Amino acid sequence: MISLLKKIDNFVLLNANIFIMTCLALALPLKAIGNVTTAAPEPATGWQGKPEVTANQYMAVTANPIATQVAVDVLSTGGNAIDAMVAAQLVLNLVEPQSSGIGGGAFLVYWDAEKKILQTFDGRETAPALADEDYFRKPSGDLLKWWQARIGGRAVGVPGTLDLLHMAHRQFGDHHWAELFQPAIDLAREGFSVSPRLSRSIAGASKYLKTFPEAAEYFFTQAAEPLPVGYILKNPAFAETLSLIANNGPSVFYDGPIGDKILESLSNTSELPSLMTKDDLRAYQAIPRPAVCVPFKGFSICGMGPPSSGALTVGQILGISEHFDLQGMGPTPDGIHIVLEASRLAFADRARFMADSDFVSVPVEGLINPEYLKKRAGLVKTETAMGKAQAGNPPGADLSHATFYHPESVGTSHLSIVDQQGNIVSLTTTIESGFGSTIMTQGFLLNNEMTDFSFRKSAGNRPVANRVEGSKRPRSSMAPTIVFNADGDPVLVAGSPGGSRIICYVAKTIVNILEWNMRPQEAVSTPHFCNRNGKTDLEFQTSETTRNVLISSGHDISIKEMNSGLHVIQILPDGQLIGGADPRREGLAKGN
Ligand code: GLU
Repeated sequence: MISLLKKIDNFVLLNANIFIMTCLALALPLKAIGNVTTAAPEPATGWQGKPEVTANQYMAVTANPIATQVAVDVLSTGGNAIDAMVAAQLVLNLVEPQSSGIGGGAFLVYWDAEKKILQTFDGRETAPALADEDYFRKPSGDLLKWWQARIGGRAVGVPGTLDLLHMAHRQFGDHHWAELFQPAIDLAREGFSVSPRLSRSIAGASKYLKTFPEAAEYFFTQAAEPLPVGYILKNPAFAETLSLIANNGPSVFYDGPIGDKILESLSNTSELPSLMTKDDLRAYQAIPRPAVCVPFKGFSICGMGPPSSGALTVGQILGISEHFDLQGMGPTPDGIHIVLEASRLAFADRARFMADSDFVSVPVEGLINPEYLKKRAGLVKTETAMGKAQAGNPPGADLSHATFYHPESVGTSHLSIVDQQGNIVSLTTTIESGFGSTIMTQGFLLNNEMTDFSFRKSAGNRPVANRVEGSKRPRSSMAPTIVFNADGDPVLVAGSPGGSRIICYVAKTIVNILEWNMRPQEAVSTPHFCNRNGKTDLEFQTSETTRNVLISSGHDISIKEMNSGLHVIQILPDGQLIGGADPRREGLAKGN
């Protein structure tokens, strides 16, 4: 661990706040930080700017400096992107436990440079086999409210992240499986410094975390206060869990003692008990699926298809926007208006058609059909907001489903990694809300991903595509993305947390870089805008001019904090890597 901390000696964090906060988080002496480079343009208000980071051989961008360092260590000792992903994910589970881990689910988009294979892996949580359309209905017949279901056993889906890591590693990994567990095991045993974001997150979720004994004990001081910044936190239970998996593989989790304890922890945790069984755990399998790729201005935007709505909705936004001169408009209110209107249309289709395609018919091809998107683009007026958009009629659509919107919460983490061979990992990973279900077992938290299902089975006498069904996977918004140029070479890796606004964050970043010529750090930092077919959400720091122009075009605007965690790597034609880490979180880009 000490050697790890010593290696974190060349952060390039310019802003004084984050500079000092990160030193505290890592228990580093300030003088250990060197090598400061030029600043990226920074918005005027309140967040911590980060400099551009460049590299020539490899790079990792994750949500936490310790996890980034571990990934870089693996890459520098000849490990490939998949190896670095496994090691970093396990460390994130420890140092950013509120966002992702082996108790949750993930989607991976992977590019194998030598074989030129683009492969996606679906490690989404699944509903217990016994779940049915009335899963969230109380014995009284009333539906649980979303916030009532948010914590406790009923919210927990069968976890998929570990099986995804194992499947990807078996197919593409290089270093030994057990070796990749060692950094997280060492950190869990020796302790790590609680970061500002973790400390704040604990404070924000105290009420929920205190509901269940293991979390109540782990995340608070003896005086029952949230763990402060800089507190050295050890997690021997997690070290034990990881050692078991390192030495025996995931079967100890899916068909062994760890799984047994998960089920034990789930018993009696909510008004509606968990329906998960040993068979559900045994049956879990990550699924390799084809990537969904959508053309945009000569590029191909590739990502995760159903059960995620990520690639389809990002693809629709871009595919509709493509019919306008975004480049000519630039990042002006006019350009932003076009993307917002495209977004309304895409979210209307999402609400009607997108869900787990192993259970309901999803017109994947039709939704991104260029002719269809051109027709949808015809609904966009350059001067005026269209108000509520209606779902369209894409080729091959099953029109029996209702259009239905339901609440979604935010948690999650995104990792972007490029290795020396040019292999690429774009992994978005989650336990759904911050701290998931808040049920902790054996040192890790269990997800509350089941709340990504629609609680209602039907609306207006029509079935809802994303209703609960046994062994189905809840619809996700996660949008891990890799962009290819016309020659088929990868040029950009991107992804973010942020609930269904993930889709807007990723689409905006792609437009910023490909159309508006921004460098990655600037592209992730510009104020967010998002329309999920309702109000137009604008981030606090959006300029007065943009706000006023959008209002005068008829947008019903809502100014808010938009807590993304965009982690981006751009690959230039000469192979140079340029990283961008979201200034809204404590992530770090680092490479060599
Ligand atoms: N559970 C959400 C999803 O899969 C992600 C939550 C978040 O990113 O904050 O879409």
